[in-house]
Amino acid sequence: MADTATGTGQPHRTAPGVNGRAYQFVDHTFDVVVVGAGGAGLRATLGAAQAGLRTACITKVFPTRSHTVAAQGGVAASLGNMGPDNWRWHMFDTVKGSDWLGDQDAIEYLVRNAPAAVYELEHFGVPFSRTQDGRIYQRPFGGMTTEFGEGPPAQRTCAAADRTGHAILHTLYGQSLRYASEFFIEYFAIDLIMDQEGACVGVVALNMDDGTLHRFRAQKTILATGGYGRAYFSATSAHTCTGDGNAMVLRAGLPLQDMEFVQFHPTGIYGAGCLITEGARGEGGYLTNSEGERFMERYAPSAKDLASRDVVSRSMTMEIREGRGVGKGKDHIFLHLDHLDPKILHERLPGISESARIFAGVDVTKEPIPVLPTVHYNMGGIPTNYHGEVLTLRNGNPDTVVPGLMAVGEAACVSVHGANRLGSNSLIDLVVFGRAAALRCAETIEANDSQAPLPENAGELAISRLDRFRNANGSTPTAALRLSMQKTMQDNCAVFRTGEILEEGHHKIHQVWAASEDVRVADRSLIWNTDLIETLEYDNLISQAVVTMDSALARQESRGAHAREDFPDRDDQNWMKHTLSFADTQKRTVSLADRPVHTYTLSNEIEYIKPKKRVY
Ligand SMILES: Cc1cc2nc3c(=O)[nH]c(=O)nc-3n(C[C@H](O)[C@H](O)[C@H](O)COP(=O)(O)OP(=O)(O)OC[C@H]3O[C@@H](n4cnc5c(N)ncnc54)[C@H](O)[C@@H]3O)c2cc1C
Repeated sequence: MADTATGTGQPHRTAPGVNGRAYQFVDHTFDVVVVGAGGAGLRATLGAAQAGLRTACITKVFPTRSHTVAAQGGVAASLGNMGPDNWRWHMFDTVKGSDWLGDQDAIEYLVRNAPAAVYELEHFGVPFSRTQDGRIYQRPFGGMTTEFGEGPPAQRTCAAADRTGHAILHTLYGQSLRYASEFFIEYFAIDLIMDQEGACVGVVALNMDDGTLHRFRAQKTILATGGYGRAYFSATSAHTCTGDGNAMVLRAGLPLQDMEFVQFHPTGIYGAGCLITEGARGEGGYLTNSEGERFMERYAPSAKDLASRDVVSRSMTMEIREGRGVGKGKDHIFLHLDHLDPKILHERLPGISESARIFAGVDVTKEPIPVLPTVHYNMGGIPTNYHGEVLTLRNGNPDTVVPGLMAVGEAACVSVHGANRLGSNSLIDLVVFGRAAALRCAETIEANDSQAPLPENAGELAISRLDRFRNANGSTPTAALRLSMQKTMQDNCAVFRTGEILEEGHHKIHQVWAASEDVRVADRSLIWNTDLIETLEYDNLISQAVVTMDSALARQESRGAHAREDFPDRDDQNWMKHTLSFADTQKRTVSLADRPVHTYTLSNEIEYIKPKKRVY
């Protein structure tokens, strides 16, 4: 949808020339600008438009191609359709899953609003799978239990077969179009526009289709740009998952939070990296080693194959290390579904049956699938409160709200997932906090309110960055730098970590960062210049890789997904706190600070869940 349709575009103001070149902007004004059209961005867009706010949604890919489309297993909410359930049990599981790093006020907000958010999706038209009596079908997922961890597994994960994300994303896009929101599709957001006082007043984007540059002025800018799985070599996430919003935040001098917590999903297909949903184990699948042993029984006697992801990934890695991996190289594990009724597989897991056939050459009704822990989700991201407002450290207060800036979805760190996210808790996070952010906009701003003129130098930062890369004349192609980064992260910041390995990783990743000066971009055009876009994305990734590594090196304990062999225990005394990481992208330095975990709940209907040992 072209900018001409906005009625707000002030055509072609001249922007400051950089490198002797003059760039021109097309200017737009909206009440709310959402960057990202995944589940989180679309839910926020829809909500803001529904509230009568002039809302734009900018996205680098067509909305229904966002990574949310690939989500398989489902969305968690304590509907209790398949057995007793309760939001308090969901809260307990999420806190325990987070290894007590999640903020409990935010977690209460998530789990209490989850059932209503799922019914809302149902009413919007999401074609959920059904029980015999017509209710939403729910399957068991890792770490989801009853009776505060004491009872049997909860069936809490609402599913549309194994294509839940696909169903949600298409439905939300359709709903967004019902309201007067405006989509700027295949626009690549480059950087935030910040004013003198440190407030966000909008964003600069490149229309990749015609090479025009756009300044979006807004009362609220909501980043919904997703995770940065592609900082690693093997990831289940799409190639577009480059954490662009996170990197914009770093460049604006604001912190990211808990970046050391990177989730490895136990069952990526060996070699290809694409995901086999945890729902496969939810439906009765199990893992075996080279001796045919169901080894999870040793590591997690009660939850077994449905222990949380960090626990299963570590157990698999131990088996491989101890020589019990399968295959020629003894370097992976088998996932069995071959004992399940083919009818069930066809009905409930059709997508992964197809993935296994295409990417592993396996017929799941007859043979096991070769799998390996693969990077899947970023618990860390842009720190926010449960309204979606971005937080920073100012005058000693780490909960200071950054005016004008919000974040939702995987880009944000609310923090509800803490040190480890439970499966199916992300999709619910997208819709609950996407909605919360829209509600907050409706509460705090007036539709069509006048906005201060953009600062004199608005967009200069974005343009100088674009121009620098467009003319980058070094000798190292972007792909080579990206590969060095991905290999370093994969080798030095993986499932198990030690001080020595992280120290080496720290040196290597800073070297790659420094070597980025020598990047070479061959194509100088502005229209569909994939070389340039990939370079901007690489530049975004490397700053996140560096803060991830440095945060991991600093945290001297094991918690959730961060497993230090040299510090095997959780250390609540010294480390029950969030890491804040800042990057000076000019000087290429990182600095760290911390932020207390919220050890209080939102209401007095549930008490603060006190830390205890985390066993499954
Ligand atoms: C294979 C897979 C399966 C999963 N299965 C489940 C599951 O079953 N249950 C569950 O709870 N979670 C699951 N997850 C996790 C969950 O799907 C993701 O965390 C979630 O979908 C992220 O949604 P999002 O809206 O934050 O971002 P995304 O869906 O990643 O969307 C990001 C959006 O930002 C836009 N964008 C990014 N950068 C820019 C830029 N520079 N300019 C303009 N636009 C930009 C993109 O165009 C896109 O629209 C799964 C993840 C994967 C990878």
